[in-house]
Amino acid sequence: RLVFGIESSCDDTAAAVLRIGERVEILSSIVRGQDEAHAPFGGVVPEIAARAHADRIDQVAAEALREAGVTAVALDLIAATAGPGLIGGVMAGFTFAKGLSLATGVPLVPVNHLEGHALSAGLEHDVPLPYLLLLVSGGHSQLLLIEGAGKAKRLGTTIDDAAGEAFDKTAKLMGLGVPGGPAIQRVAEEGDAERFAMPRPLLGRKGFDFSFSGLKTAVRQAAEEAAPLSDQDRADLAASFQAAAVKHLASRTEAALRETGATTLVAAGGVAANAMLRARLEEIAEAEGAGFLVPGLKYCTDNAAMIALAGARLHEAGLAPTQEDALALAPRPRWPLDGEAAPVVGKGK
Ligand code: ATP
Ligand code: FE
Repeated sequence: RLVFGIESSCDDTAAAVLRIGERVEILSSIVRGQDEAHAPFGGVVPEIAARAHADRIDQVAAEALREAGVTAVALDLIAATAGPGLIGGVMAGFTFAKGLSLATGVPLVPVNHLEGHALSAGLEHDVPLPYLLLLVSGGHSQLLLIEGAGKAKRLGTTIDDAAGEAFDKTAKLMGLGVPGGPAIQRVAEEGDAERFAMPRPLLGRKGFDFSFSGLKTAVRQAAEEAAPLSDQDRADLAASFQAAAVKHLASRTEAALRETGATTLVAAGGVAANAMLRARLEEIAEAEGAGFLVPGLKYCTDNAAMIALAGARLHEAGLAPTQEDALALAPRPRWPLDGEAAPVVGKGK
């Protein structure tokens, strides 16, 4: 089956075509970023993002179809992000998907963006169910038990900032570029992670929640004390922060792996692109006798291939809403992954 994916929940306009049979084949995956548009403002501006998505979604979609060598009428399913995210952008992409579905008669499946991240390892791997998922992105940091598409149980979440948000804010206050995660990883390569003492968030606290605001504050204080920062100071600070953040994520994940007895660990979301985190998680899984799977770097950050896969899996599981409900659906700015699989129908009905 040919499945089309559309993603527009943050600052990447993306479209992809998958061929799904026994294996998953990625025929195309186009991701158009907006970094230049937001750079002058030091972060993503929702209104600018929405306009950029509306401006480009048709071109990105056409490019994905062209690269895959298929026409829209040959598609079997159209999957589009319906939330959570910056609502203007979500509406631009989802409304385009509705139009495409109406024009072609190809069924539409609304997809939770987090479902996309949660299933993203399945783009390149056979992932045995159930698995423990560390979902670490720009807006979320969660440990979940994934029993299938639309079947997630949340074990823990952040009590303040998301992991990616912490990388981004820390990078910003150190004067590094956006997005912050890759910048911190790059600069940290030349740094001494032992130089600055960092707190251990939620140390001794039971459960699987995360907290990153203390690390961010520690970096700010250290940066103020060491100001003006030399390149070496920045590298050491980035390395110290990265090591502490990875240690925090890894220790909570290790505890969850033990408690659940899960035999497979999966990491997903933009922060799962971090080399140090990937290496640590692999060690933890090995020590616990569990398998470890993580998407390739370009499928950790936002893309439409993961949305297409999630849409297909929801459809196979019988969890996709009817076409009538899909077309009447109002996109959702907030939509927890462990909530209902098929979102509530909006006012458009
Ligand atoms: P959400 O999925 O929660 O809605 P999002 O879609 O904006 O948020 P993603 O695209 O999954 O988030 O991930 C982007 C985040 O990943 C950014 O915060 C970015 O700094 C972080 N990130 C990307 N690469 C790395 C890296 N190598 N190390 C650490 N963080 C990284
Ligand atoms: Fe995302």
